[in-house]
Amino acid sequence: MSMTGALEKEIRRRIAIAGPMPVDQYMALCLAHPQYGYYITRDPIGARGDFITAPEISQMFGELIGLWMTAVWKQIGSPENIRIIELGPGRGTLMKDAMRAAYVVPGFRQAATVHLVEISPVLTTQQKRTLELLSMPTSWHASLNDVPDGPALIVANEFFDALPVCQAVKTETGWSERRVGIDANGNFTFKVAGDPIPHFAQLLPPDVRSAPVGSIFEWRADAPAFCLGKRIARGGGAALVIDYGHLASAVGETLQAVGHHAYANPLTGPGTIDLTAHVDFQALLRAAEAMGAQGHGPIDQGQFLRRLGIETRASMLKSKATPAVSADVDSGLARLIGHGHAGMGTLFKVAALTHPSVGVPPAFDA
Ligand code: SAH
Repeated sequence: MSMTGALEKEIRRRIAIAGPMPVDQYMALCLAHPQYGYYITRDPIGARGDFITAPEISQMFGELIGLWMTAVWKQIGSPENIRIIELGPGRGTLMKDAMRAAYVVPGFRQAATVHLVEISPVLTTQQKRTLELLSMPTSWHASLNDVPDGPALIVANEFFDALPVCQAVKTETGWSERRVGIDANGNFTFKVAGDPIPHFAQLLPPDVRSAPVGSIFEWRADAPAFCLGKRIARGGGAALVIDYGHLASAVGETLQAVGHHAYANPLTGPGTIDLTAHVDFQALLRAAEAMGAQGHGPIDQGQFLRRLGIETRASMLKSKATPAVSADVDSGLARLIGHGHAGMGTLFKVAALTHPSVGVPPAFDA
């Protein structure tokens, strides 16, 4: 049997036993089932895959993040051991470009060890291939909690959007959990649980609470943001979270599926298509700050990259390039900082977390 069919069968089996399955459980199985999960079985990133990410668009993205890291490293007194951590490193491209740029800063190379938090064996293999040439001390971990203590500079690009979301639907009697069940034709379909979730409205911001019946609210478990905040507050350093999402908690369904660079139905072909949902930056920062970290931003990705000097960097690259490479630099720049549909500049946001002693990190001063 194909792996695809196997995950669908497994989900049907679970629904038959336990009834409709909460959306976050469905998403977790689709992406990370230990045998059949989307990320476990493939490398989905790139022109031939399902989607493309900022570090794959242009080397400038990783380079500027590397320089941001060296600036914060100096801001915290250039500690002689610094952990460079990436959550969900994909093909390893961001880290490669970041470290190549960071190594020009005296002392940084000697201080840095690289730690990649990854669940995908396929992508781990690709990351090893990508990072080989840098020959730096690198280790892989299943979770941030497994990375040894000490001051850290952490980056997470398009990581949080891949973590499972829960959904609730507002009904006449309260907010009820949204689940995945089976319809009369035997297909997966969304269902709404009969009983509302007790006291749910109390946890919501006022404008979400007063949303019309039928509205959907999405939220994620706080644990990953707690871990990130705790790590920074205890060990020192800073983190960058880059993702698409909203600045303030709000109603709206953002769960989406993508396969081969096109939107798909999230309930078909479990394990073969990517599932994501927008990041609620307000909730993420609130959770990290509750653990003692200081939040900054979020600001637009375009603004972040421009403040770090992406336009100057582009001109430098072009000054030594062939016309074809120059054109690539220009189109990469436009995609990374551009507005509207084709650009990531305003769709993507960047937030930072710092130890309270760090002050304002580069690009976050108004
Ligand atoms: N940051 C990369 C990849 C984004 S795709 C880029 O910008 O290109 C999401 C990444 O997160 C993949 O590497 C995926 O395998 C990883 N991932 C997804 N869920 C994870 C989890 N629960 N723990 C660790 N890594 C996870």
